[in-house]
Amino acid sequence: MNRWLTFVRAAALITLAAVTGTAVAAEAPQSPVQIVVGFDGSCPHDPAGVNQEGPQRYRIRPSWRASVGVDEEAVGRSTRLGFQVVNASPAAAAVDLHIDWQYDDAPPKDRPSFASVEQYMSYRDFVVVRWPGSDAWQTVMADVEGSVARVRLKAPPGTTEVHWHPPYNYAQSERFVESLRSHPLVQVERIGHSPEKRNLWLLRITDASPRVKKHFLIRARVHAYESASSYVMEGMVRWLLSDDAYAAAAVRQYAFYVIPMANPDGVCNGLGSLTAPQGVNLSSIPYQPDAASLPLKQAIDRVRPAVAIDLHNWQNKHTDGLLGLDPTIRERFVRFMPDQLQFGKEWTIRDPKPLPEKVPDKELLRHYCERHFQATVVTFEFPWFARTPEDMRATGRQALWALLRALDPPPPELR
Ligand SMILES: [Zn+2]
Repeated sequence: MNRWLTFVRAAALITLAAVTGTAVAAEAPQSPVQIVVGFDGSCPHDPAGVNQEGPQRYRIRPSWRASVGVDEEAVGRSTRLGFQVVNASPAAAAVDLHIDWQYDDAPPKDRPSFASVEQYMSYRDFVVVRWPGSDAWQTVMADVEGSVARVRLKAPPGTTEVHWHPPYNYAQSERFVESLRSHPLVQVERIGHSPEKRNLWLLRITDASPRVKKHFLIRARVHAYESASSYVMEGMVRWLLSDDAYAAAAVRQYAFYVIPMANPDGVCNGLGSLTAPQGVNLSSIPYQPDAASLPLKQAIDRVRPAVAIDLHNWQNKHTDGLLGLDPTIRERFVRFMPDQLQFGKEWTIRDPKPLPEKVPDKELLRHYCERHFQATVVTFEFPWFARTPEDMRATGRQALWALLRALDPPPPELR
């Protein structure tokens, strides 16, 4: 970290020295502010993605990758942003951040699938900021020009976090798993490791009843930027372990299997969706698995879920996604979980299509589980804008509760 800070500062001083032609130490006004990257979950993840362009002005390039990326890791396609503004002086300092999403620099084959740069930037016209000493995330709107979102901040002394969405990094996931170890209803199993040797966990949550239970799979965070899916998963797990009567009924009826973080390398290395700049997209299960997919596929094949939830958060601001759920169950589901209008969200519903008869090389988790286990599966997309981490946990509680209610047999006629 210090090496990178030194690099950024040295680069700035060299630039100033070249412009003024004078000795650096005497003349160059040193900014009291440093932009820090390189931590768990930062994006860009390398200081080469940050340029100081003036005493207070920085250009941040969220699609900068250490090696050439594809898909959402390609130039101009990033779905991740997170860095720190560190002010070492005792007084607040102004910073002018030019967050350059580089829409027009995307290689033709990796062009974002958006109608226009305006649409692309309509999801990127804000950041969330956590001020020094605060736990809360404040939304700060940007001024957008082309694909640059300009954010002016007055950074107080200390560390100010600036992200596209509230982060949830690998260390947080490890702490969450650790917090469950001693719980009597939870078994924690390490199912393997990621290509960079990070832990892959499977949680089993059920009560001690000897009855035969249906298996219920919950998978979170296959896509690295989708931090909401982690909070939604936490909300589901904490609810299952709560005193709620329906939670007690749920862990009597089902054994829940939770993959809390499927893509820890992508999360930690500040990627958008893949496991590496040219890595794999874990949303599909490949029939010839690679190193990143194999432990997850083996776990799913062992669990053989009867019900499964795949957790995502797309970047749309105003719509939640309810994808692939059997229409009869889906109709009941939305009665128990209507549009979350309080957050400005309406459901976008996509009902399932018949599976192709010919088995493809890889298929989405929900298709894989339908094909092999005749499972009932749903993909949820819960985007961030206007929701807090606690709202996301509550959304997870409600979504799991509502799906369980929708799976109940309809109530019999009263006699
Ligand atoms: Zn996703």
